[in-house]
Order: sequence, then C-alpha cells, then structure tokens
Amino acid sequence: MSLSSYPLFKDPLRCFKCQRFGHSKTSCRGTLTCARCAEVGHESTDCTRAEKCVNCKGEHTSFSRNCSAWKQEKEIISTKIKKQISYQEARKLVTSQTPIPGNSYVSVAKKSSSAPSVQKNPDISISKPPDSIVRESPPIANLPISASPSVAPDHMFGAA
Ligand SMILES: [Zn+2]
Ligand SMILES: [Zn+2]
Ligand SMILES: [Zn+2]
Repeated sequence: MSLSSYPLFKDPLRCFKCQRFGHSKTSCRGTLTCARCAEVGHESTDCTRAEKCVNCKGEHTSFSRNCSAWKQEKEIISTKIKKQISYQEARKLVTSQTPIPGNSYVSVAKKSSSAPSVQKNPDISISKPPDSIVRESPPIANLPISASPSVAPDHMFGAA
C-alpha cells in the first residue's frame, strides 16, 4: 500500500467567514466572525482589538498555528487519513485523548482514569520526620536476649 498518494498532514480547512473548521466560506451557514477578536459582525481586516480565538477562546487569532483547537483539528484529519476512518470517528478518537480546555461539554466521566495527571514527587517521601516523633523502642531489659542464652542450646540437645 502506498501512503504517498495521501496528503498525510493536510492543514485543517478553516472557514474565512465564521472561523470554524471543516467547511469553506462558500458553504458556510454561520455568522461572520472576526478572525482576530472573535466578535461577530465584522471582518478581521481592520480589527485592532485584543486577539481572541473563536475555536478555543485563547489569546490568539483564529488562524494562529498555536491554537490548540487548530492542532487538534489537524490531528483529527491526519488520524482520519492514517486510519482511513470517517471524520466523526477520528474526531471521537482525538478528542477523547486530548480534550480542549474550555469545551465544557466534553464528558469528564468518559475516561477519567486513563491520564495520570498527578505525578508523585519523590522528594516528598524522602524527607524524614524529626527524631522526637519516632516511636520509642521498648526497654531492652524485657527482651529474652539479656537472659544469657549462651548455655541453653547444648543442654537442650543433650537432654534429648
Ligand atoms: Zn463558516
Ligand atoms: Zn475583530
Ligand atoms: Zn485557538
């Protein structure tokens, strides 16, 4: 099988009108949204407002390559092509692995135990408690060792 015929890392298709992924401006049924500030009703050409991403609400333009939503969209597309599955299946795969912060509709209960987000810091367990806290050892006098056991073994075996 030749993978060379597939554009493996194709850039996501982003709509220049509503800034969403997966369709083009000509087939857009969304609202005109600024690619710079994510406000509706104007284009980004003359916009000087603070940058805000439509897709991930981050502090960058909607066409930024640093956008986590854009990266995820790209991952979905390459997954779709590599595994030769539908876009919906690829999206399900990718989003279950890397949920976008801010997309609150992502079900948290789905795979809660898959990602160990809390890492144990080994330095914490190394630190010793102070000596005063350490439990007191029992008095040595109560131990059988102090009762001169050196003569016991020979007598026991000899008597039998
Ligand atoms: Zn659109
Ligand atoms: Zn704007
Ligand atoms: Zn973004």
